[in-house]
Amino acid sequence: MSERKIRVPIVAANWKMNLLAASAEEVCRTVASELGESTAEVVVFPGHVLIPAAAAELRGSRIAWGGQDLHPDDDGAHTGDVSGPQLADAGCTWALVGHSERRQDHGESDGLVARKVAAALRNGLAPLVCVGETAAERDAGRTLEIVSRQLELALAPIVEAGDPPPPFAIAYEPVWAIGTGHTATPAIAQEVQAAIRGRIKAHFGHEVSEATRILYGGSVKPDNAAELAEQEDVDGFLVGGSSLDAEEFLAIIGCC
Ligand code: PEP
Repeated sequence: MSERKIRVPIVAANWKMNLLAASAEEVCRTVASELGESTAEVVVFPGHVLIPAAAAELRGSRIAWGGQDLHPDDDGAHTGDVSGPQLADAGCTWALVGHSERRQDHGESDGLVARKVAAALRNGLAPLVCVGETAAERDAGRTLEIVSRQLELALAPIVEAGDPPPPFAIAYEPVWAIGTGHTATPAIAQEVQAAIRGRIKAHFGHEVSEATRILYGGSVKPDNAAELAEQEDVDGFLVGGSSLDAEEFLAIIGCC
């Protein structure tokens, strides 16, 4: 990690729709017992039904857990959805919001993402807000425009929550890098993440922007994590595929 960094990095596992209770427990047990000297904050995002199994292993460790999504309402007739109060009741302290797979598979708009950020905050969950451009948007030179638009709406409820803002973090996840093996170059991650920090500064001022963790996500592996982690504005990772293997995930944590 760069000596200039004052931020404690976060390394988060997004298991998506993978693992079963036994394998989830095994990954959690191994990561919790082999974390060693790493000072990074570690968060696991299991599929909703796996949260109790993961929590049983993680309770008492310094690893936190969260939901991969939440409904904007706190209760009601929303078959198949999970609410903020239910996540909090399951011991979650984080909620992943606005992942590109939710945006793509479920048509989640920036406006809906903002309502989910508000729901997370209302329930004491720190939102980890995902933003990122598609390959077509990057090719059209629209990366910063897209990321800024996504960010503006998602930050609105955090701004409204008051000063100082409640805990939150941002993950820059270029859609073209997720699950493709095409990781963003360190220079691309740094350029976009510096711009994200600039937007946070515009809303919250210098102190908050310097303290906010901005994660990179998209095909992070043990062999590319160290170079990305050296970038000034890369404060850890949101890891999909490589977080399903405890040793790979631990190796990535070790780079931060
Ligand atoms: C993700 O799902 O957030 C992700 C970054 O996936 P992967 O690491 O597999 O690209």
